[in-house]
Amino acid sequence: MRPTAALLLSANALLSASCVNGLAEEVFAAIDKQDDGLRTVNKEIWENPELGYQEVHAHKTLTDFLEEQGFNITRSAYNISTAFRAEYASGEGRAVSFNSEYDALPGIGHACGHNLIATIGVAAAIGVKEALQNQGVSGKVVLIGTPAEESLGGKIKLLEAGAYDGLDCSLMAHPGNKAYASYGRTLASWRANVTWSGEASHAAAAPFMGRNALDGFVSAYTSTGLYRQQLMATDRIHHVIQGASDMVANIIPDFVDSVWGVRGHSRPRAEQVREQLYRILYASSNATNTTIDITPFQDYWDQNPSFQLASEYHRLQMEHLNPLEDAETSNFTVVAPEDDSGEASASSDQGNVSWFLPAIQVGFPVGGTAPVHNAGFRELAGTDFAHQQAIKTAKVLALTGLQVLQNETFAKAMWEEWEQMIEEISVGLS
Ligand SMILES: [Zn+2]
Ligand SMILES: [Zn+2]
Repeated sequence: MRPTAALLLSANALLSASCVNGLAEEVFAAIDKQDDGLRTVNKEIWENPELGYQEVHAHKTLTDFLEEQGFNITRSAYNISTAFRAEYASGEGRAVSFNSEYDALPGIGHACGHNLIATIGVAAAIGVKEALQNQGVSGKVVLIGTPAEESLGGKIKLLEAGAYDGLDCSLMAHPGNKAYASYGRTLASWRANVTWSGEASHAAAAPFMGRNALDGFVSAYTSTGLYRQQLMATDRIHHVIQGASDMVANIIPDFVDSVWGVRGHSRPRAEQVREQLYRILYASSNATNTTIDITPFQDYWDQNPSFQLASEYHRLQMEHLNPLEDAETSNFTVVAPEDDSGEASASSDQGNVSWFLPAIQVGFPVGGTAPVHNAGFRELAGTDFAHQQAIKTAKVLALTGLQVLQNETFAKAMWEEWEQMIEEISVGLS
């Protein structure tokens, strides 16, 4: 949801009040000084992909490195074994936070590039720490190690445990192919395990004695296909069979295990689609006389970025690292927040965070054509070029965080805009 014209005006007026530009040189130098170590951290995570809540190696690699850098570390924070919190404070003031994600995908490793996200969180925190420690800035920097983004909602557990309490903003980045985009929305996403249970029977001798669980699944699959005519362009329904009874053609299948996902542009829209999916699922159970069991395990809310933070990030990016002037990156596109269509793609548990405090998840390009969640993107995410792009992104994120710490007027306007946005996007929620 974009801010009103009045808020936009105040945002533009604030740009001239920026006071972080003088810090850029020292902040960038502090990050560059640790580049060898950051490259090693990045590589360690990329070469050792671990699934959600099993990121033991990444947790150790990151927390050991952060400890060496002088942060106060809480390992296995908030009773989540692979979560952590690293912080550094100097005097009184606001608190800026970054997220490091580090989970991988089954079978295709770091095909979402979370090794880069982990590296960016660490590098940005090092940059802000330099300003707190040596440049007279007051406040606190917090890096939250957020496991299990891909489907199990690590940040939702962290939110519930209070990890984001008392913080003024949450900043992070995600890699893609071609675009620098600081105002990235994501879709609300809901997912559930769905099973159909029936009765096995001889498919030729006594089919009338069986109840066919596969027919239950197929009935729902087909009805969902028909429902697609009524979906909006931004809605998504997707599903996979994860397991079944031993499938042989002469036994009526008595069990199917599957995962169903629903996404929508907003929480109210995702709820509408989900309600229709429930009707379809129950109808499939009735139609096939099978028993259905629906166990939701994911509720990611749509990500609504802070326009102020996105605008400031964009401004700092263009001022300090204008990517279009760099021969290596000039073929990419830069999408300014005011030119962003606001259309969402994919989903993230950072969405839930964005409903709790001002947040952004900026996009940065690592090139290539293989999309995320494709083995080709895993290769793109492991290159030196991707690392360099991540470090540049971290530098601008650090400056954006410092703006929140240093500029009272900016921070106040950011919170006011966020409160108004939350009021607007909450309309229609059940
Ligand atoms: Zn992903
Ligand atoms: Zn991802």
